[in-house]
Amino acid sequence: MSEAETAEIKIPKGREYQFPTDPDHLWDGLNDIGLGIRWVAEVKKADMQVELSGPKWEYKSYTILEVIEEPGIVRDGVMTLIGPDIHEVEPGSSFPSAWDIRVYGKGITQRHREYIERQMSMSLHGVEGYMAFGSFQAPWMRFSKSIVGRLTFPKLCQIVYAFIKTVIPQVEAMDFRWIIGSEEVGGMKLIEPLYKLGIQRLKAQELATTLEDSDVDVFYGCTICKSLAPNHVCVITPSQIPYCGILSYNGAQVTIELDPEGYIFRMPKGECKNELMGSYTGVDEAVYERSNRQIKHVNIFSAIKYPTTNCGCFEGAAFYIPEVDGIGLAVRRYIGVTPLGIKFSRLAGTISGGSQNHGNKGVSVRSMQSKTFLKGDGGWTRVVWMPADLKKEVAEYIPEEIYDKIATEQDAIDPKDLKEFLKKKNHPIVEKYWKNGEPVPLKVPPPGGEWPD
Ligand code: SF4
Ligand SMILES: [Zn+2]
Repeated sequence: MSEAETAEIKIPKGREYQFPTDPDHLWDGLNDIGLGIRWVAEVKKADMQVELSGPKWEYKSYTILEVIEEPGIVRDGVMTLIGPDIHEVEPGSSFPSAWDIRVYGKGITQRHREYIERQMSMSLHGVEGYMAFGSFQAPWMRFSKSIVGRLTFPKLCQIVYAFIKTVIPQVEAMDFRWIIGSEEVGGMKLIEPLYKLGIQRLKAQELATTLEDSDVDVFYGCTICKSLAPNHVCVITPSQIPYCGILSYNGAQVTIELDPEGYIFRMPKGECKNELMGSYTGVDEAVYERSNRQIKHVNIFSAIKYPTTNCGCFEGAAFYIPEVDGIGLAVRRYIGVTPLGIKFSRLAGTISGGSQNHGNKGVSVRSMQSKTFLKGDGGWTRVVWMPADLKKEVAEYIPEEIYDKIATEQDAIDPKDLKEFLKKKNHPIVEKYWKNGEPVPLKVPPPGGEWPD
């Protein structure tokens, strides 16, 4: 973010570092840190030196990558660290954080932002002693005690810098500012206003796409998460943003332009079999091939019937609640119990892995803006429950007449109470889906199973 934008917020001065910018020396000084897929590991709480963001801070932290289209603003290879470094904190510390990254390059425009973000996530995948969960913008990071004295926040930025400069030579300049929100620098009091600004900023940056699924002949597919979920394939259409939340149709297009041999592939959509459910012959063929011939059919607009598969990195999930024949929504940061009687973490564990889990679909917060969100299941008229803060976050996308009729954890969690709530509020589900004022639960087939005709 520019200084003018954050003028109201007093940000302490930090320490500045300059990375080598000569292409032959980008990786200098990094050879004492393990890099690569074999270093991907979990950092348990007991083993962590420091944790940034995550549930403890209600995810009020961010990583924002900005494309600056004007030359001369981004200071190449410069990193400013505000707050303590990894080795300067007590083992087991946890702080909120605000990480701003800016890039400049001739010909690099907002269109390329998602692609660069993606590469940045890749560069961090497999840094020794580093673990990250959650989406790019709302991360949760841990650093292991085992790398204290070797890995530092500037070095982590240098890894990103060197990687991006190597894989996207069009990037001419890249700089970093990382605020580690310890008490001394202002803690949450400093981070929260920055976070609010950052979120606004991101929304403004999102390219307004006017494309509809019917305007294009080709969708895109992504199989990056195959390493964790071998049969998993994501389908990306103008209206469907995958649930990792970082790639849109535009982002997929740019990725293929810059990296034609990569994980993103073209998916000619073929014939539309069912407009409401989002069922296409070309999609089914591609998914079948890429899922090791495990998934025969997907409805891209449904969480209930033949949903797309879930790897594990979804920001949130839509889940069928049989007792009320409705759909609940939850995101990772909601730590309470859902109407299924389990917490999100357990739900996520059971539905990830890449099989077709009827009744469950990973979703991103961004995908809730889409006109086709759960269209095949009835869209927002079928949604009966969601955490209060998520409801607030996506309020502008929920049809006004339904908003007050969707329960939150403050209204009901137990399905019995939820049913009463929906009746009392006269939620449209009562009229549209229930029979004589009573829900008729669907018999959901087991994962990988088939629905009766
Ligand atoms: S969730 Fe889907 S779109 Fe996102 S990285 Fe994984 S496979 Fe690709
Ligand atoms: Zn994934």
